[in-house]
Amino acid sequence: EADVIVLVVDGRAGVTPADEDIADLLRRSSKPVVMAVNKIDGPRHEDEAAEFWSLGLSSLLSVSAAHGRGIYELCEAIVEALPQVDPATDGEPGTPIEEAEPGGPIRIAVVGRPNIGKSTLINALLGEERHVVDDVPGTTMDPIDSALMIDDRPYVLVDTAGVRKKARIGDQLERFVSLRAIRSIERCHVTLLMIDGTEGPTDQDAKLAQLVGDRGRALVVLINKWDLVRDDPDIDARSTVDELERRLPHITWAPHLFISAKTGKGLHRVISTVDRVYREFDRRIPTAQLNRFLEAAVATHTPPQRYHHPVRLYYATQTRVRPPTFALFSNTPEGIGPAYRRYLANRLRERFGFEGTPLRLQFKRRRKLGEAMEG
Ligand code: GDP
Repeated sequence: EADVIVLVVDGRAGVTPADEDIADLLRRSSKPVVMAVNKIDGPRHEDEAAEFWSLGLSSLLSVSAAHGRGIYELCEAIVEALPQVDPATDGEPGTPIEEAEPGGPIRIAVVGRPNIGKSTLINALLGEERHVVDDVPGTTMDPIDSALMIDDRPYVLVDTAGVRKKARIGDQLERFVSLRAIRSIERCHVTLLMIDGTEGPTDQDAKLAQLVGDRGRALVVLINKWDLVRDDPDIDARSTVDELERRLPHITWAPHLFISAKTGKGLHRVISTVDRVYREFDRRIPTAQLNRFLEAAVATHTPPQRYHHPVRLYYATQTRVRPPTFALFSNTPEGIGPAYRRYLANRLRERFGFEGTPLRLQFKRRRKLGEAMEG
């Protein structure tokens, strides 16, 4: 989830296979990486640091954490590597998805804790061989992904390599599994988050859900292993949904399905639900309609004053889709707090739906009606 990753290696020990594995993951993470070769206590050890260039990372600094050597340069390299905060997005995290051509494939990621049933689900979706195709016309396929055609509509399941072949990532890297999940989420339009119906949502599920929202991807929650729950008197659908709302309050907009990846129960609804949330994720609200909405929302509940000055909202427009992103112009954008932001987002959902997609609201300054807008 970091903006910059600092890889610390032991300059005295030399390059180890673990360093190579981690460097390999980091190179594929598309995150800026700064490598700190530690324990280089003086100039006579500098030569030992140079061998770490073999890891193929573009930045290498020799440091001594114990003696404070090279730390200033390391800080500079970190600052240098930090992504520029785009004022237009209020610094909100989330990498935009490249604008694919209309009718391009919907990209789907399956994430969840180990043993939750990801492989079983992916195999079930791919299992219907008639669906699997070698590639999707007009798209460059990554070899780690799988392409499907369902009812003449193309889909790409991202990062299925470990499922179809033997997983490349060894057990010793199991704890980096979330890095892999992040990468899958970043490469998809719609994330399928699998949770265990017999246990209910966990903290780890909440973190993954948060990630999907932060990265601005559409989301469907799959409550798996529901076949095991049938005979358990302590678990029922209602209590599971209550638990979802309690543990994952930040993604109440995501629909959920009860499934069994193993028996196939409920799977026929997975793709139709993906289609439905993708439409919302890709939806554009006409400006006139949006402004009628804004006027009514502000009339019902005006933004709280700031230092005894009224905070006004003049005008809104949708600037992007995937996810739907709105620019709202105000005399005092910094005066709009989280509560009011939530109020508007909730009203937007009440009015327009947007099931399964996060929404982005960006407040921008506009001095007075009729005057030119700023940034
Ligand atoms: P992954 O680590 O998330 O890819 O999980 P797997 O797909 O390998 O599944 C882990 C175990 O759970 C396997 O033994 C599966 O057969 C089992 N499993 C997966 N889905 C279900 C389900 O819906 N019901 C039941 N009873 N078992 C399941």
